[in-house]
Parts: sequence; C-alpha cells; structure tokens
Amino acid sequence: MSLLSFDGSSMGTPDELSHPVHDLIGVGFGPSNLALAIAAVEHNDGAGDGDRVAVRFFERQQSFGWHRGMLLEDATMQVSFLKDLVTMRNPTSGFSFLAYLHENGRLVDFINHKTLFPLRLEFHGYLEWAAARVADLVDWGHEVVSIEPVISQDEVVAVDVTARELTADGNGREVTYRARNVVIGTGLQPRFPEGISGSAHVWHNHQLLHRVEEIDVDAARRFVVVGAGQSAAEVTAFLHERFTAAEVVSVFSRYGYSPSDDTPFANRIFDPEAVDDFYDAPAEVKQMLTGYHSNTNYSVVDGDLIEELYRRQYQEKVTGHERLTMMNVSRVEAVREQADQVSVTVRSLATGRSVDMDADLAVFATGYDHVDPRPLLGDLAPDCRLDAEGRLKVQRDYRVETSPGIRAGIYLQGGTEHTHGLSSALLSTIAVRSGEILTSVVGARAQAARSRGAKAPAAALRAFLR
Ligand SMILES: Cc1cc2nc3c(=O)[nH]c(=O)nc-3n(C[C@H](O)[C@H](O)[C@H](O)COP(=O)(O)OP(=O)(O)OC[C@H]3O[C@@H](n4cnc5c(N)ncnc54)[C@H](O)[C@@H]3O)c2cc1C
Repeated sequence: MSLLSFDGSSMGTPDELSHPVHDLIGVGFGPSNLALAIAAVEHNDGAGDGDRVAVRFFERQQSFGWHRGMLLEDATMQVSFLKDLVTMRNPTSGFSFLAYLHENGRLVDFINHKTLFPLRLEFHGYLEWAAARVADLVDWGHEVVSIEPVISQDEVVAVDVTARELTADGNGREVTYRARNVVIGTGLQPRFPEGISGSAHVWHNHQLLHRVEEIDVDAARRFVVVGAGQSAAEVTAFLHERFTAAEVVSVFSRYGYSPSDDTPFANRIFDPEAVDDFYDAPAEVKQMLTGYHSNTNYSVVDGDLIEELYRRQYQEKVTGHERLTMMNVSRVEAVREQADQVSVTVRSLATGRSVDMDADLAVFATGYDHVDPRPLLGDLAPDCRLDAEGRLKVQRDYRVETSPGIRAGIYLQGGTEHTHGLSSALLSTIAVRSGEILTSVVGARAQAARSRGAKAPAAALRAFLR
C-alpha cells in the first residue's frame, strides 16, 4: 500500500507555481474525509508513479473522534454497517467494517448477532482503526484558519490552506500547504434554540459524556431534556438510568416521540442513485422530497427506544415511583443560571400556562447546523456562485460552482442537502461520494495535463475512473 504523505518531492510542481502542490487538502478528518483518504490510498495502490494523487488532511482534534460526547454504551448505529467507509464503492476493500471485525476476532460473533446495526461504540472502534491506518496523511491537532487563493496569470490556480497547531499554551505554529483542490468536511455545529446558550448547567447534548462526571449521582434531583429526536430520547434514557434518584423531565413540542422511517422503500432516498434523481429534480420537487422523507432522519426516534421509554414510564406508574415525565406540546421559554442549578421555564403550547422548575442540569438535544464554509474561504467566497436562496451552487461532483478563472477546486463533503439530498449529512453515501470527489479531482488533473500537451493518463487511472 502506498500512503502518499508528501514532503513535496513527489508532487507535481506546475510551471507557474514555485511551491510543491498537493492534489487535494482536506479540511476536517471525520468519517467523510477519512473515506476520501482511503479512496486516495486505494487509487494510489493501483496507479503508476505519474498517476498517484498527493493528499493531506488537517484535523483539529488531537486524534480521531466521532461524536465522542454521545458514544453512549448501548446506542446503536442508525445506518447499516454495510454503509461503512468503503463497501458501497469497493466491496473488496480491506478497510471495510467486516475486515475490522475479522482483524479483531469478532467476525463470527458478529454474524451470530444477526444485526445490521452495530453499537455506535463498536463503529467508532472501526473508524479509529481505519483512521490509524492512514494517520500519516493527517496533521492532527491542527485547525484550518484560512484558505487563500494562489494567483498566476490572473487565474486562481491553487489554494494555500493554513492551519494553526492547537497547543495547551496557545502558541501553536501555523502550517500552510498548497493544493489544486480543497475538500471541506468540517461537519456540523451544535444548535441551541434562539435566546439560549450553553453555560455551567445548560449543555448541548454533544457535551454529555465529556461532562457528565461533574454531576454527583447521589445528589442530583432533576434533569430537563429538551427535544424529541434520537439524541433527546437517548439522553433521556441515559440520565434516567444513571441517576436513579433523580427525576428526568423531557420537554418537546410534539405530542409524542415519532418513529424514524427506516422501511426499505423510504430508505432508498439514501441510495447513491437517489442522489442523481434529487440532483436533477426541479427545486420544488427537491423541497417536496425533503419534506416527505425528513422523518427518515430529523426529529424522529428509533422505534425500540420509544417502546423502552414508554415501558419505563408505565412501570413507574405501576410502582407509584414516577421519575420519568414527558412535558409534551411544550417549549422551554427561558433558562436562568443559579448558584448550583438552573431554573427552567416551560410553557405549554396547548394551555399557554408556564411553569418554572429547578434542575441540576438542562440538556438541549436541539440539533445541529451545517458549518458554512464561506468564512473559511475568505477572498474566494465572493467567487462562489449562489442560488436564489443564497445557498452555494454545487455541481454533481460536489465541486462548488465558481467564477471563470478559478481553476482550483473547492469541494464539499456535507452541506449539500439542498443540492444532493438528505444523505448529505449522513454516513449513507460517504464511500461513493468520496470516490466521486476523487474521480473528479483525478479527472481534472488529467484534463489539465492533456491541455498542457502532457501524456494522457495511464491505464491505472482509466481503470479507476471506469
Ligand atoms: C450523535 C450523532 C450520531 C450520529 N449517528 C449517525 C448514524 O448512526 N448514521 C449516520 O448516517 N449518521 C449519523 N450521524 C450524522 C453525522 O453527521 C455523520 O455520522 C458523520 O459525523 C458525518 O461525518 P463528517 O466527516 O462529514 O463530519 P464530522 O463527523 O462532524 O467531522 C468533521 C470533522 O472536522 C473537524 N473540523 C471542523 N472544523 C475544522 C477546522 N476548521 N479545521 C480542522 N478540522 C476541523 C472536526 O473536528 C471533525 O472531526 C450522527 C450524528 C451525531 C451528532
């Protein structure tokens, strides 16, 4: 296997540029860019010298981590393990979840388990295992702070991607790599309802496992959990189980938790072909499809977990010791930090009446927003084309549409729900999407080489593009 972590010597150096140039720099190293790194490694394995791609990634975490704050012990994946980093692109890859199980001596046990949905903890183990195998392509503990255009003869021919090393003393040095393409895979950022922000006793659910040890198991009396999605239900169940002397109040505007639709016909909305259908559809059809099928992912809960929470609540009614309460058709209006707790005001949307309650902690499981890449793109941002609603225009190959004269490619992994559909923020298509991005990058390089009169790409490249 050839891992191309470049010192510059093996990179192409276009005539007009004095620096060594990577084919691709990835911003962020979550599952999406990890899948891309593997696609690059597998491409390079079969490629001749001139056809290899030079790739490198920046990740601000010090080591690989996938939503660690929500790696609850019994939480399971919401997607089949077959939608791992590689299988949908290359079923024979040595980077599959099955290869991981095999290497870790659990393949037979897993088969007997008869599930498509492993524990999130186990899938995290898989992702870590895969990341460790390509770790030399990553600068860990580096936060990308700018992406600057490199101009030659009035064209943007490359970008300089600068990252700051995150050190305890805050004096980390800056590193800049030059690349023909940048792939932004910076994921999601936690969202609070308007007017509410995090504090000592007001958390977003992504912080849960990082901070839960701060709360004394014997002393805690009440928790408020806000939201009706999968994370909210998981947090409710977790707090109820861990803090056996405390009341857990779940607040949401729905009448009850709604189940996620993971039935087979609906699930096809996450197929690679569905991306084509969605991409080619008119704007109103895109909107319609997103509306019809948002209950495959948003504000919905796994059916088994709904049953489990109901079972617990009913059992408490029978025993007369009620700790699990649902405040449905309700909203949190305000939170006020107090010395050792938080005061939460909840208003019933049905009656209009409000109640105040004190709690040891309020956890907002109120979702995530995609991180807008434009601030990072700096001077390049005005050259990115927007649709009528001010969203980035993105080509089918995930390349942002730019003004003429921008030869450097800006690709997105995530943040393309408006163009490519519901799978954009999920794991479902990351294997295929990464292959498509790499194919586009390799194809553009071959095209540029051809137009410079260079030799056509070798057989290995053609095989990969097929
Ligand atoms: C609790 C939880 C459970 C989920 N479970 C599932 C599931 O079961 N199935 C499913 O399909 N989806 C699930 N999702 C959706 C989730 O978006 C995807 O699983 C996945 O995380 C997408 O990968 P990503 O690489 O695009 O983004 P992320 O995993 O968010 O990774 C982005 C990475 O970029 C890094 N980064 C950000 N900014 C910078 C910067 N400026 N410089 C350097 N690095 C940066 C971050 O540190 C992070 O590591 C879940 C989401 C959550 C929150």
